[in-house]
Amino acid sequence: MIDFEIPLNIKQMQKMLHEFSANNLRPISREFDEKEHEKPWDLINMVHAMTQGSGFTGSIRRRKQAKEAEKKDAGPAMGNVMAAILAEELTWGDAGLMLCMSGPGLGGAAIQATGTEEQQERFLSRFEKDKPIWGAMAITEPGCGSDSAAITTTAVRDGDHWVLNGEKIFVTSGLMAAQESEGFVVVWATVDKSAGRAGIKAFVVEKGTPGMKVTKLEHKLGIRASDTASVVFEDCRIPYDNILGSPEVIDKTKDGGFKGVMATFDATRPMIAAMALGVGRAALEFTRDALEKDGIQIRYGASPFELTAVERDFMDMETNLHAARLLTWRACWMLDNKIHNNLEAAMAKAKAGLAVTRVTQKAVEILGPLGYSRKNLLEKWIRDAKINDIFEGTGQIQMLIVARRVLDFTRKELK
Ligand SMILES: Cc1cc2nc3c(=O)[nH]c(=O)nc-3n(C[C@H](O)[C@H](O)[C@H](O)COP(=O)(O)OP(=O)(O)OC[C@H]3O[C@@H](n4cnc5c(N)ncnc54)[C@H](O)[C@@H]3O)c2cc1C
Repeated sequence: MIDFEIPLNIKQMQKMLHEFSANNLRPISREFDEKEHEKPWDLINMVHAMTQGSGFTGSIRRRKQAKEAEKKDAGPAMGNVMAAILAEELTWGDAGLMLCMSGPGLGGAAIQATGTEEQQERFLSRFEKDKPIWGAMAITEPGCGSDSAAITTTAVRDGDHWVLNGEKIFVTSGLMAAQESEGFVVVWATVDKSAGRAGIKAFVVEKGTPGMKVTKLEHKLGIRASDTASVVFEDCRIPYDNILGSPEVIDKTKDGGFKGVMATFDATRPMIAAMALGVGRAALEFTRDALEKDGIQIRYGASPFELTAVERDFMDMETNLHAARLLTWRACWMLDNKIHNNLEAAMAKAKAGLAVTRVTQKAVEILGPLGYSRKNLLEKWIRDAKINDIFEGTGQIQMLIVARRVLDFTRKELK
């Protein structure tokens, strides 16, 4: 059976978060875009108090609840679908502010994808605590972005420890994860360069570990409220059991542990797609309101011969966003139901990244000065949009994954 109806409990949460975004994020959106690296602590503390253990942060309680629900056969699993719907509401409010809120973030996703039960408990249960904590994930290096297998950061075993050396750049929430309360950074490093992908493993580096240093905060085009940091590791010693998954490099001819680490993206890409939807919808609604103020109504159902260029553009924007939303929900639903979603996650992210950049650009084009002036937030949304087509794999990389999957080509056959 195909069912596109959102369950009542999720609808209620969606409504609540929409109101929250309208009342708490939109009013400070411009202020924290301009202040860039200043943290909205009142908001962070308020959101932490509201969401603690609620399921949105991906906390340990959520996973336990999901497991309980499974046991009791308490209806379909929808944790990721719900998270996507709620993420859309928050980024409708403000994408940068949403990203700077506390939570396990991408680091948590990596731990969930590749960590043992014990590691998940150890690193994720802290998010139940009565204080905001951040997790981050550091893959990108000065010499490697899309091709994450080219990582040069090393992890060398030394007795009961690993010693990490290297530099990571563009780490979302890197500052908060590396410096605040009990945060952590999940660092991708190679234990054996000659093994290529098979040698790449993920390591959890706890806040304040000697040898881990934040060296730079980026000044950015969009999502300026979110910190994006460079983090350097110099003889950074971490406990041996902070490696996620097996330390063995089993077969140098295969991807090995790297596959596990890459599985993180199947969970996080649909969430980025959901974030894109919120920004796109904000721009779409702003455009509709502005047109209506000028007495222009979108005539749904009118003959294509009668439609104006603006109406056609608007319908195209709306359709693109909706198509991206359906792909996103599908990828999340598959994740919830433990169905391999590598193709669908890439499709959702590729489509949503394109849709949000196109929608915001068209909105500015249609509205002209209204869209370009800093008096309105549309000027900000066009800046916030682009990142969705960059991080967690660019649009081109998503298309490459889709092509490989659809055509059944290996990574070597289609580069
Ligand atoms: C605000 C922000 C936050 C970020 N947060 C994080 C984070 O938390 N953690 C983290 O590890 N990284 C993060 N990143 C880094 C991000 O994931 C990378 O920027 C991204 O993966 C692209 O890598 P690159 O910039 O090195 O581009 P490159 O890999 O150098 O690519 C440059 C261009 O070439 C294209 N390209 C590359 N290879 C191919 C190919 N095979 N076929 C076709 N086109 C190709 C790309 O699509 C892109 O357009 C963040 C980046 C930004 C801007």
